[in-house]
Amino acid sequence: MGESVIPLADLRYAAPVPAIPRQLREPTGQLHDHLGRPLRDLRISVTDRCNFRCGYCMPKAVFDRDYQFLPHSSLLSFEEVTRLTRVFAAHGVTKVRLTGGEPLLRRRIEDLIAMLGGVRSSDGRPLELTLTTNGSLLARKASALKSAGLTRVTVSLDALDDAVFRRMNDVDFPVADVLAGIDAAVAAGLAPIKVNMVVQRGVNDHEIVPMARHFRGRDIVLRFIEYMDVGATNGWRMDQVVPSAQVIDALRAHWPLEPVAPGVPGETAERWRYRDGAGEVGLISSVTKAFCRDCNRARLSTEGKLFTCLFATRGHDLRALLRGGRSDLEIASVLAELWSRRSDRYSEVRGAQAAATSASERRIEMHYIGG
Ligand code: SAM
Repeated sequence: MGESVIPLADLRYAAPVPAIPRQLREPTGQLHDHLGRPLRDLRISVTDRCNFRCGYCMPKAVFDRDYQFLPHSSLLSFEEVTRLTRVFAAHGVTKVRLTGGEPLLRRRIEDLIAMLGGVRSSDGRPLELTLTTNGSLLARKASALKSAGLTRVTVSLDALDDAVFRRMNDVDFPVADVLAGIDAAVAAGLAPIKVNMVVQRGVNDHEIVPMARHFRGRDIVLRFIEYMDVGATNGWRMDQVVPSAQVIDALRAHWPLEPVAPGVPGETAERWRYRDGAGEVGLISSVTKAFCRDCNRARLSTEGKLFTCLFATRGHDLRALLRGGRSDLEIASVLAELWSRRSDRYSEVRGAQAAATSASERRIEMHYIGG
């Protein structure tokens, strides 16, 4: 086994302020990038803080008591998030996912959800509003989130076994509380609920079948995520990845499964259905079967930087435009320019690009850019 390398460089601020294009363009709802991919999905990190310390995302060795999280004044305000979302929606975004960090740690997150509920897509429809959470505060908040207008929720859960789960979240958080959060989300009507499990070899791969058994037949879609080389602090190694093909083999040893045709373009998960009618599972194979070709996602960091790829090394400072008095049309024109130039496809060219990424250009951490 190789050594894990944990660089400490903080590159949160490496984001130029985009120039305002000379020719301003009214958004048409039909913005495509350099590879013909539309802009449909916006992920917004509402806080860089989390109450878990999962080793693959915010390892304790880096995110310890001395770690400097962003000051409150750096965060986009709810008004700023809403304003930017309106600009993104005018360009074609139909779905917004709030993430982080742990989004339920952001104070009065329900107020933001209610504000985003007033934003319309370019064809006049309400946006699909979703949220990804570690579930720790969900039992308390599910019904308020639903009342505020949240459409559905995705809960991250890496194991059912309490000891394994406590070890993975590294703050001794009990699995029973997350399961209670999932139940509360079901009761509040935040369906269809998805549960995301990041599978790591030798850490929680023995939990694949118990997790499937637990969520089968409950109208909850369990999705297995390949451990990704996102960020620069988790010391990722290829031998820690359990390829989706092995996950499906493990499941098929217990239940007959058949593939389901993809629902919407840009869907991240490959879908499989239990042949006995007990529902579906999803496989997110961003390492072994990259899906950059259909990627229609933009990411907005906690402090308003736009990233056009999860594996980006650099963002674009939209907050500076908001706080610099720029108009919506100017910001929309900047976004049009940035998205039109977008040609990122990191996962497809992973090997070559990783080698070419210099030490001074470390990838942005997931809690900051939004998972
Ligand atoms: N705190 C929230 C949560 O736990 O869902 C939202 C933020 S978290 C960064 C979003 C998702 O990213 C989680 O499902 C998490 O498991 C996943 N994630 C984080 N680091 C990852 C990695 N290196 N590979 C794969 N998934 C990762």
